[in-house]
Parts: sequence; C-alpha cells; structure tokens
Amino acid sequence: MKETNKKRMLSYVLAVIILFVMIFSVYFVTTHEKHHCSGVDCSVCYTLQIFQETSKVLGTAIIAIISAIYLCKILFSDIYTNNIREILISLINLKIRLNI
Ligand SMILES: [Zn+2]
Repeated sequence: MKETNKKRMLSYVLAVIILFVMIFSVYFVTTHEKHHCSGVDCSVCYTLQIFQETSKVLGTAIIAIISAIYLCKILFSDIYTNNIREILISLINLKIRLNI
C-alpha cells in the first residue's frame, strides 16, 4: 500500500472517530440535561461542564483555523501574485527612456 493511501485511510479513520465522539457528546448532553442532580460533586454536571468548555474552545479553534485558511488563500492567491508582478513592472524594468 502506498504511503498516500495509508495517510488517506488514517485521515478517514480519524474523521469517523471525531464524528462519533461529537455525536456521542451531543447525545449525552441531550439525554442528561435534566437529571437527578446529587448536588455537590455531581459527575453528570461535571461532565456537562467539561463538554461546554470544550465546545467553546473547539469553536474558537475552528474560527481561528478558518480565518488562517482564508488569510493564506488571500495571500497566496493569483490576485496577490499579480499585484506583485505589477509592482515589479516599472519604466526601468521595461527599459523605456524618457530623455529622448
Ligand atoms: Zn448534576
């Protein structure tokens, strides 16, 4: 098996695992939202609190990743390279004499 096929298979497996964890987390939150709380040191409340904090961090991370991808796309797009090409074109580069 080629190295690219192994990486592709690994990425599919990781994507399935992440999807499974996300679905299970949502299922856990929806089924345990209204529970018989034992008060202090309730394990369900603790798990729900961890899930909320993790979802906040993941949301921030996803926004940061999308912003970084968009920024890279803008910086390395054809428009940016065309602008650099236009800056490099000058009268000296074109060897045009103005004192004739
Ligand atoms: Zn509780």
